[in-house]
Amino acid sequence: MFYGHYCGAWFVKVIEPRIPIWVLMNAVQFIDILHNLFVIFHTEKIKIRHDFTISEEIISVPYSHSLLGATIWCLVAGLWYRFFSGLGGGNKATFLICLLVLSHWFEDLVVHEKDLLLFTFDNTKPKYGFGLYKSFLLSQLLETGLILSSFIYYLKNTKTSLKNSANFWTKWGVSVVFVDFVISHSTSYITPPNVLFLCFTALTLHFKSCYLANQLDKVRIPTSYTLTKESLD
Ligand SMILES: [Zn+2]
Repeated sequence: MFYGHYCGAWFVKVIEPRIPIWVLMNAVQFIDILHNLFVIFHTEKIKIRHDFTISEEIISVPYSHSLLGATIWCLVAGLWYRFFSGLGGGNKATFLICLLVLSHWFEDLVVHEKDLLLFTFDNTKPKYGFGLYKSFLLSQLLETGLILSSFIYYLKNTKTSLKNSANFWTKWGVSVVFVDFVISHSTSYITPPNVLFLCFTALTLHFKSCYLANQLDKVRIPTSYTLTKESLD
């Protein structure tokens, strides 16, 4: 799963608007960011798979994609948010960040084949995955449904800030982010030439999407905000 993971970020942005969208998007993909870095530095191992739905075959990914690893990274992200980020929202926001990091593992569990470890880093132990990737139609329906429903929910619960009414991002931001979803997700149908290319492309696509989403979110405020509150921003 790639773009489907971002659903949690758009939903939580509505529940807790004090967390910047780029932080939420990095939280939902934290495990994959680490995974790509671990592969680049030869700590984890994958190989290219020539398949329309999946471009990588997992050989060994215990540190990023075991439930034990995911739990550790969820705590690391929570501690960073609470004590080092300087961002608002307190315990509620910290809890939501932890939940988003962990959500990645459970979403992967639904679509991955049996390649996810539970509470161990030992790659010889039993692995789990419900294998929705075996059905192209169902896996794409799930992924598209998740990202579209969450983005629509975000748009319904936010509005353009009046002070930014002439801004490029107020006019085109929604279209830019939507086209970015479509184009970036479509790249997952192309078989990459090698593992390094795959990792660098995934990281580039992710950070580019964070930037675009953040530009859009900067010109939007929750629909519940009053004009008085907005003018105080
Ligand atoms: Zn993953």
